Amino acid sequence: MSRYVKALQCKCPKCEKGKVFRSNGNSLLFRMPKMFHSCQECGYVFEREPGFFFGAMYVSYALAVAELISMLVVIKFILGMSNIVLLCGVVIVAVLLSTFNFRVSRSLWMYFFEKKAI
Ligand SMILES: [Zn+2]
Repeated sequence: MSRYVKALQCKCPKCEKGKVFRSNGNSLLFRMPKMFHSCQECGYVFEREPGFFFGAMYVSYALAVAELISMLVVIKFILGMSNIVLLCGVVIVAVLLSTFNFRVSRSLWMYFFEKKAI
């Protein structure tokens, strides 16, 4: 269970102490999160090979779909609002959570391929 928490906190998949990202980014200012090349604690290189993080796009896609379906359920079926409110809510949530999805998807992708599987 703690490995899931460490993955969501974007800690190093090997030592679980060092930070993966030096900045969280800001979707409203169009700033993407910045990664460290390697762990500051143990020296683990995060990008194992060129193109390693292409697979994290699938994780990001799954996260975005889960978030947007949750928005659909809340806005349409629980609150009973109109489709235009649904569209605006989905767009706002997608933009606001884009940097979160970026960081968490890369972190989960690294944890997925580390020896200590979660
Ligand atoms: Zn480390």
